[in-house]
Amino acid sequence: MQLTINPETIKGFLHPDEGARLYDLAADAARRGPCLEVGSYCGRSTLYLGTACRKHEQLLYAVDHHRGSEEHQLGEEYHDADLYDAAAGRMDSFREFRRNMDAAGLSDTVVPIVASSPVAARHWNTPLSLVFIDGGHSEAAALADYRSWSTAIASGGFLAIHDIFPDPADGGQAPWHIYQLAMASGLFEPLTSTLTLGVLRRC
Ligand code: MG
Repeated sequence: MQLTINPETIKGFLHPDEGARLYDLAADAARRGPCLEVGSYCGRSTLYLGTACRKHEQLLYAVDHHRGSEEHQLGEEYHDADLYDAAAGRMDSFREFRRNMDAAGLSDTVVPIVASSPVAARHWNTPLSLVFIDGGHSEAAALADYRSWSTAIASGGFLAIHDIFPDPADGGQAPWHIYQLAMASGLFEPLTSTLTLGVLRRC
């Protein structure tokens, strides 16, 4: 894995081991079709996934409204003042995201889609080889992301979900709930997880 910039220079919450796993999954998946992530934020996961896609001259769609999740809003636990657009009175991580993609040389690989999942997915008709879900962590947001994209995954494709905490004492439950939904659907088989990164394969 050869990254053009240090992932630690990109704001984000992805562990290097989880990033390396995403890279490996995308390096495999990108031989078969485009990949898509939800919840790009400043582009740390996008760096790992996008670098693997570029190796195969494949595309990575990066879906994020860039207005921040619940926990990023003003006064919340993960608020980052650098990403607050005071004039608009809203979060805006897109400028930082684009700067990082330019620095990483990924502008011709990563296709940003600045919209919510349900809006971006409304007319989506392209089979995906990998979907990585790391968007909002409320039950409603996680469910919307799962419903929007899980049906687009081609047979043999991967579904990766970040922040899986089976024990409520360790963290929020919404990502774990959509992981369980995927399992209950009968459409996915579980693969080995990497830290909090859950991974399934579409049957
Ligand atoms: Mg996350």
